Amino acid sequence: MVGLRPARYLFQLRKSCEITNAPQARVYLGLPQSQVNAKTADKIKPESVKLTNLLKKTNEPWRLKGKQVEVVNYGVLVEKDNKTGELRGVPMGNAEGDSFLYDPASGGSTPKQNEEAEGRENDRILSAARFGEANAYYHADRTLTYANSLLAELGEKPLPYLRVVVNDHSCSQLPGYRQNDCDERSGEARSFGGGHYRRPSDRFDDEGFEHQVEEINSAGEAHLGPGNDFIKDADGDRVVVNSYPYNENPSHNAAIIIHETAHHIVSHTADFRENQNRQNNQYSNRKIHLDEGTCDYWTAVMLNSPDIYEWQRADEKLTDKSNRNLSGPRTTANFVQDGDPHENGNIWSSTLWDLRQAIGDGRKTDLLVMKTLLLFGEIEADNPKAKRKIRRNEEIDQKDEFRDGLAMLLQADKLLYKNANRTLILNTFAKRGIGLKTLDSNF
Ligand SMILES: [Zn+2]
Ligand SMILES: [Zn+2]
Repeated sequence: MVGLRPARYLFQLRKSCEITNAPQARVYLGLPQSQVNAKTADKIKPESVKLTNLLKKTNEPWRLKGKQVEVVNYGVLVEKDNKTGELRGVPMGNAEGDSFLYDPASGGSTPKQNEEAEGRENDRILSAARFGEANAYYHADRTLTYANSLLAELGEKPLPYLRVVVNDHSCSQLPGYRQNDCDERSGEARSFGGGHYRRPSDRFDDEGFEHQVEEINSAGEAHLGPGNDFIKDADGDRVVVNSYPYNENPSHNAAIIIHETAHHIVSHTADFRENQNRQNNQYSNRKIHLDEGTCDYWTAVMLNSPDIYEWQRADEKLTDKSNRNLSGPRTTANFVQDGDPHENGNIWSSTLWDLRQAIGDGRKTDLLVMKTLLLFGEIEADNPKAKRKIRRNEEIDQKDEFRDGLAMLLQADKLLYKNANRTLILNTFAKRGIGLKTLDSNF
């Protein structure tokens, strides 16, 4: 005979209950660049997926809060007082419901346009923001799931919890919610058109952004802006979908989401800026060339394509200075001393991508790259070589970063595969101009 369970037990059961079925969402999986130009923009369509790893409490709606990552929305809507005509900024709040099947609404308008239109773009901007929340969750969760599976195979613990903020730094000029939270890097206050990864820091100047240390997740946050420009095709024409030019909304861009999520991976493995030895709220958010290049590598891995920006940056040519495609021609001959770490990092990401093709086994190569990052993380702070990890803007030949990266990769190959790929690695890296300083030099 089965007795009645005590009420307390039932309560605990309910409270800890995770529902295993997963809600549906509409996301962009990515499209080949060649498919889309201004004339074929109707091919840009979201696809339905199930969102995995979400946690749900009984009798509450689904929210974009999972086991590895949560997505929050700092977007601003424009509210007009019917009596006085005054405008205010009010929060969008976070997505919740039975599913996350939103219309991408051509990326919404820019926040500035919506302010000028006194909120008449609110519906489109909100729909685009909600789509961006689901899209950001999907790509961030998928990336962390893969990274954690590699770490588990290498006997390491999973990554700490990540928060992704969409519609961050909207640059609302209205009184109310998040007024004047702008990107001021150009000297002009704009809404943020890209993404960045931050840990809380009140010690270092953040070059054009303001971050409140108390609201930033200590383990790390990816910030995705609401956009401030429109997507163009390879001919420079605006991509118009459903009669609206597509706003370059970073949370609609899988590459930006994955790249920023990858900073979380690199930050908690290689730890290039020695943050593990800094105090809480005093972390360094600078990124070295190896960091940016490795993040683009993970992006190509997750999208299974070297053309990471696809239709969203189709106006970029392989030979453009800003190009981030991993099949471009850059070698260390194109390295710019004290140059942009994304652009210099493209030499590193392209070399890793070449190696992935040469080895012919994606997961095996990804384990090698992850092991390389872990080996960087193991360098102890009192080792004089640790200083070389934090070299950006310091008086050291920055090309050494790539040579050190190569030495570490060879070390990883020795530990994981008994030097089985050594010749292949050296040959692949030599083609991009990266060689060892002296034969057999370790980091
Ligand atoms: Zn930020
Ligand atoms: Zn980056």
